[in-house]
Amino acid sequence: MKTRHQRTKYIFVTGGVVSSLGKGVLSASVGALLETRGLKVSLTKADPYINVDPGTMNPFQHGEVFVTDDGAETDLDIGHYQRFTKATLTRLNSFSTGQVYDVVLGKERRGDYLGGTVQVIPHITDQIKENIYKSSKGTDIAIVEIGGTVGDIEGLPFLEAIRQIRYDLGDENVLYIHLTLLPYIGAAKELKTKPTQHSVKELRQIGVQPDILVCRADRSIPEDHKKKIALFCNVKPECVFEARDLDSVYKMPVVLHEQGLDQIIVNMLNIWTGAPDLSKWRGIVDVLNNPKRRCRVGVVGKYVGVVDAYKSINEALIHAGIANNAAIETVYLDAEEIVDERADEKLKDLDGVIVPGGFGLRGIEGKISTIRYLREKKVPFLGICLGMQLASVEFARHKLGLKDSHSQEFGPNSEHQVVHLMETQRGVVNKGGTMRLGAYPCKLLSGSKVHYAYGETLSVSERHRHRFEFNNKYREHFQEHGMTFSGLSPDGELVEIIEIKDHPWFVGCQFHPELKSSPMEAHPLFREFVAAALDFQKGRKPAHG
Ligand code: GLN
Repeated sequence: MKTRHQRTKYIFVTGGVVSSLGKGVLSASVGALLETRGLKVSLTKADPYINVDPGTMNPFQHGEVFVTDDGAETDLDIGHYQRFTKATLTRLNSFSTGQVYDVVLGKERRGDYLGGTVQVIPHITDQIKENIYKSSKGTDIAIVEIGGTVGDIEGLPFLEAIRQIRYDLGDENVLYIHLTLLPYIGAAKELKTKPTQHSVKELRQIGVQPDILVCRADRSIPEDHKKKIALFCNVKPECVFEARDLDSVYKMPVVLHEQGLDQIIVNMLNIWTGAPDLSKWRGIVDVLNNPKRRCRVGVVGKYVGVVDAYKSINEALIHAGIANNAAIETVYLDAEEIVDERADEKLKDLDGVIVPGGFGLRGIEGKISTIRYLREKKVPFLGICLGMQLASVEFARHKLGLKDSHSQEFGPNSEHQVVHLMETQRGVVNKGGTMRLGAYPCKLLSGSKVHYAYGETLSVSERHRHRFEFNNKYREHFQEHGMTFSGLSPDGELVEIIEIKDHPWFVGCQFHPELKSSPMEAHPLFREFVAAALDFQKGRKPAHG
């Protein structure tokens, strides 16, 4: 076992003091920096919660569900990994306590433990180690992020497992990075190091001595503070790094590189690499700092109060901005507040609107009103999954005159169900992991808007997460009224993209393009949607922004 994994070295990222410090972005940035040195990395998120996966979790609580090519419903940190690196991400790269127990209990029922008592150590910890090893095969460096905050009860088996990994593989093959917070106390006019000391103490009690500390702070950390932290936490002074609040996460790799983080990592792990090439990351920072144009884009959804619920869409818009050399102001609008006759009030200042994916009845009519406004007023529109389904309903109702038209999901008795349950979804009762999930090929219509967006190719692969689809019974009727089916499954059976020719940019897709966008390579549908929004903005009188 040991020799098989000897080539991969491990970096474990833990978090202390409070949650939401940005462990995902830090892990992803470390991955990005190591890739600039030509290393092959993998990134894995180990989550201590009990749910088997986040697929059934409420976006209000947990943010969006990120879907991988192989159809796993994963944590949104996997999205950061995908946006920052070239790492292959599959269902192996995101696992939870629930999954670990699922496997261990399965083994116990099969009698694999030969009647032994099944315990947290070694059985649960061994399974955690096995999952970590499996997710990092064939890579130079595996970055493994441990979810939660040090001190959480659920996290203990994970910390024990990563402690054992250094014991198993040796000091030169394992590195611990701990992300903490230095709060600023106004009355004392000082950044405080005590919570960091406590958090490290907690880690050391378990037997994990961090090698590198990354300290979040809202201002610069004075040198003497760094020295104090180093001494009290038993790390080298040059291993205390500062992570100031940034206006864009995409500045993180450059900021950490300038402090020498990647150099320290390769030194400590004793690896020789080529010189790092940060030119692409620096290029991104340049565009972010000096955008040439601006526009305002709306996202009309349901979970608008929770920033993380539409994380990938938010990021894909930023990427599309970078590709167009523009800054995008993204405005989140609650669909429930948009009513047909008064849609104008909420939408008139927007240069383009996205109607994202979603589940459940709340806000559905507001989204349909929004789409009607965009279609009629020729404002750029991108409908994603539910957004495409509702664009079909809107078209049927107002363009085809099929008044009693709906998606079967929301109008089980409506006469014209232009969107209905997929054949394969009929009779599915179990909610977890049973949708049409993961990557599917899509054939583009030559000469269509989306064909132009994707470039040369007529065959693309995109990720899905839904149960309903366009009802083929209505295809002809839609086409007669100006709707183009510009993306289909290779057998022609499933409608994957719809667009309206006589409109600057009215595109709906059954898949989630936002899941494949990155700052280096904006997704073509987002890129062209934003290009259309910028054109719309230019034509606007009087121009805003
Ligand atoms: N609720 C719709 C379906 O299941 C759309 C899902 C989504 O937008 N991801 O088909």
